Amino acid sequence: MAPPRLLADEMVGRLARYLRMLGCDTTYARGWSDSEIVRRARAEDRIVVTRDRELARRAPGALLLTSPELAAQLGAVWARFPDVPTEVRFERCTLCDGRLERIADPGAAEIPPELPAHVRASGGPIYRCVDCGHPYWEGSHTADVRRRLREWAGRGPG
Ligand SMILES: [Zn+2]
Repeated sequence: MAPPRLLADEMVGRLARYLRMLGCDTTYARGWSDSEIVRRARAEDRIVVTRDRELARRAPGALLLTSPELAAQLGAVWARFPDVPTEVRFERCTLCDGRLERIADPGAAEIPPELPAHVRASGGPIYRCVDCGHPYWEGSHTADVRRRLREWAGRGPG
């Protein structure tokens, strides 16, 4: 089974970024009314992820999060959706949810010259969002995220 398509409400923006890092197609509802969220979720076949009890009641199948903690929120997502990966996948843009394409392999001879020097020097692979063009690569930030995810994935829902 594929991971579910999700729609995160405004209160769980950090969780939305993490879900995108895990490869989940996650829309972030910034500034949308509850009615708009419910309508878009239905139209796009997405599951609403929220901390708002009233919104969860209105959105069929919504995942209501009870904790403000990111680790516990991810734990709740993994408990409900076992198909959501627990490792970083370079598949979704954390900024816009666009799909990532691989633009350079490790040790590639031709790395796009418009990329910043530290990205080009990272050794690859390098990815780019097909929608907004933002580049992604294995950096120290990714290593930190991977370490956190390993710790949290072993914890279970909190
Ligand atoms: Zn993007």
